[in-house]
Amino acid sequence: MNIASLPKVELHLHLDCSLSYEVVQQLNPAITYEDYRASFVAPAKCTDLADYITRAIKGFELMQTKEQLRLVTLDLFKQLQADNVWYAEIRFAPLLHTMGGLTPVEVVQAVADAAEEGVATYGVEANIICATLRHYNEAQSMETVQLVEQFKGTRIVAFDIAADEAGFPIDAHIKAFAYAKEKGIPCTAHAGEARGADSMWETLQHFHPTRIGHGVRCIEDPKLMQYLRDQDIHLEVCPTSNIQVNVFDVIENHPANRIYDAGISMSINTDARTISDTTLAKEYDILQHYFQWTLAQFKRCNLEAIRHSFAAETVKEKIAAQLSVAYDIAM
Ligand SMILES: [Zn+2]
Repeated sequence: MNIASLPKVELHLHLDCSLSYEVVQQLNPAITYEDYRASFVAPAKCTDLADYITRAIKGFELMQTKEQLRLVTLDLFKQLQADNVWYAEIRFAPLLHTMGGLTPVEVVQAVADAAEEGVATYGVEANIICATLRHYNEAQSMETVQLVEQFKGTRIVAFDIAADEAGFPIDAHIKAFAYAKEKGIPCTAHAGEARGADSMWETLQHFHPTRIGHGVRCIEDPKLMQYLRDQDIHLEVCPTSNIQVNVFDVIENHPANRIYDAGISMSINTDARTISDTTLAKEYDILQHYFQWTLAQFKRCNLEAIRHSFAAETVKEKIAAQLSVAYDIAM
C-alpha cells in the first residue's frame, strides 16, 4: 500500500499548530531549527493537554498581521498538497490574532482571503472553522460565533470549541452554541479527550454538534457509543496527538480500531502537524502498522469525513466520487 499517494480528507487541523520551519524562519529569522524543535514541537509524551497546548502560543505569536496570517495559511496549504490531501477543514481562534492591532473581522478576512488563494495555488479544496476557547468568557464566544455568521458565503463555514477541556467548564459557551443552532451554523466541538464520556454527553446535550473533535473516550461508555452510532455523530480521531497528551499510554491501546469496528463514523486527522510532528501519511502508517488497517478502511474513513464535512453539497459529491475512484483503483 502506497500511503503517501492515497488521497486524503482532513477535518481536524489547527492553523496555529501547523507552522513549518520554513515559514517560521520567514516570519522570524532569529529562530533557529533547534529553537523550533524545542518550542514549537511537543515531545512524544507531554504531561497532559494543557502542557501540549503551550506550544500553540509560539505559533500564534507569529501570526499577528495580515501578511503573517497569509503566509502561515499558504504554508499549510503547501503541506496539505504534499500530503495528498484533497479536502481540508482548517480551524483557528480569531481572537488570538489581535495582539498586533488587527480587529477580529480583519483577522478572519485575512484567513478567508488566504484560504481562497491557497485553494487556487495548491489545488487543495478547503474551508475554515472558527473556534472559541474553553477559557474564553461568554462575550468572547459570542463574538467568535458571530464572526462565522458575518462571513457566511465565504470559506468560513463552521464553529468549534477548543483548548483545555479539563480546566474549564462549558457554561460560558452554551449561549454561543445556541446562537449557532438558531442561525444554522454547523458545529463541531472538542470533547472526550482530556475528560471522559461525561464531557461528551454534556457537549452533545448543550452544544448539539454533528461532529466531535477527538471523542475517543466514548470507549468508556457503551451507551454513548450506541448514541453516536444512532445519531450519526462523526468523530475526528487524531491518534498521535492522543498519545502525546496521555489520553492513552501507548498507541497499541488507542481505541481507533475499536471505534471503527463499532460502526461509529470517524476520520483520521493530524490535529497539529507541527506540535505532533506528523502528517496524515504518518497517521495512516501507524494504523496500518499497529492495527493492520486495509485500503477499504482508509477509504471508508475518507468517505465518512467528506460526508460529515461542512463543505457545500456539490463539493461533497464531487470529492466523494473522486475518492471512490482513486481507492478502487488502488485496491
Ligand atoms: Zn484539536
